[in-house]
Amino acid sequence: MKVRTRFAPSPTGYLHIGGVRTALYSWLYAKKKNGEFILRIEDTDLERSTPEAVDIILEGLHWLGLSWDEGPFYQSQRLARYQAVLNQLLSEDKAYRCYCSKERLSALREEQLQQQKKPRYDGHCRDRKTVIANQPFVIRFRNPLEGEVVVADQVHGDVRFQNQELDDLIIARSDGSPTYNFTVVVDDWDMQITHVIRGDDHLNNTPRQINLLLALGAHLPIYAHVPMILGPDGKKLSKRQGAANVLEYREEGYLADALLNYLVRLGWSHGDQEIFSREEIINFFDIADLNKSPAAINPDKLSWLNQHYLKTDDPKQITQLLEKEMQQLGINTQGKDSPDLQDVVMLQRERVKTLREMAEKSRFFYEADFSVPQTFPADILSALKALQAQFIQLNDWTNESLHHALVETAAQFSLKLGKLAPALRLVVTGTSVSPPINVTLHLLGKKEVLARMEKALV
Ligand code: GLU
Repeated sequence: MKVRTRFAPSPTGYLHIGGVRTALYSWLYAKKKNGEFILRIEDTDLERSTPEAVDIILEGLHWLGLSWDEGPFYQSQRLARYQAVLNQLLSEDKAYRCYCSKERLSALREEQLQQQKKPRYDGHCRDRKTVIANQPFVIRFRNPLEGEVVVADQVHGDVRFQNQELDDLIIARSDGSPTYNFTVVVDDWDMQITHVIRGDDHLNNTPRQINLLLALGAHLPIYAHVPMILGPDGKKLSKRQGAANVLEYREEGYLADALLNYLVRLGWSHGDQEIFSREEIINFFDIADLNKSPAAINPDKLSWLNQHYLKTDDPKQITQLLEKEMQQLGINTQGKDSPDLQDVVMLQRERVKTLREMAEKSRFFYEADFSVPQTFPADILSALKALQAQFIQLNDWTNESLHHALVETAAQFSLKLGKLAPALRLVVTGTSVSPPINVTLHLLGKKEVLARMEKALV
């Protein structure tokens, strides 16, 4: 049997890292088993679903390279199919019309709560044989009254639910629209999903979905309910900590591979290994190794992984991404005499954690409109001027000769290199942090360095 997994987001908010991780696990399992990964947009909640949220989902998955083999299928385009299955269930007496009024249901609920019982539908319309004309109704699924449903969950083990605890689920509202658990079931069935991998906030829905699938004569998928992702404090993940739009990670300069590597480890492990190539993740991934307990996010680890990928990925690729990031910051890297951006990447990638940081810290290579934030003591100023004179004469603009010039001038003025180099750095970069000064000078080029010195040392 061909493995078929799916990612079934509701486009009612941002695609956040919890959703992406579920998508990743489903995608990985399909890849590993040479199966198919299906994308399904669960947009039946017309009021809360937005096209913007759909775009973010598609773009987020695209950015991360989680490509789907089928879809995206939109539930809003499958309403006729749901209607047909509702009719089938009604005609087979597996579902029934319920005419109970809101008032009756809320009185029932009050009474149950007063008796300290769990509120549930009492089956009032379950055995009604007649159809009442011109009266609004919902459609309820005729859930078995006895027995139990065992969810043979791949993460949590067997989880048992008593049918007595499950009341007759509403599968269509009074306006005829199908409800969540029902559409998921019809879709998982129609799309021949073999493995449902999703957040364990859905575990309680699963016995209801299983009963519906059984009533339809459908093959049951294998379920794996993945524990939630927690904040670094072990509490519910907040927006600020990572529950926000996953595309913000891209904005902030994280690499897709780093984020994937980070996310796969939030809930899955393979020995002590931390760094995985995409191929390795696909090869090593197994549902059996998903963790049972929730994982807490760890922003430092994401930064560490991002730096690893910045350092080890193909510099050409990093250069392209940096170019985009520079553009976003309004920095033009295409000037005639500007340093080659790939050289900048090679210089900076050891020193920064994100592309954004790399872009910000490389601004000075392309823009000289900073002001030198300090006036220098007389001895340093003289040394800087002597250096300027020496640089004018220097034809061999290499790291070595630049270093040599600095050392020589420092000695000549009885200054420590540790005093002269930071001053020169301020003059040519406007900041106190940059790659080694001789390398920075080299990359800026003689003309630019002299222009900046000229401007600052009047
Ligand atoms: N649409 C559901 C959600 O976004 C997921 C349904 C499922 O995976 O079964 O939470």
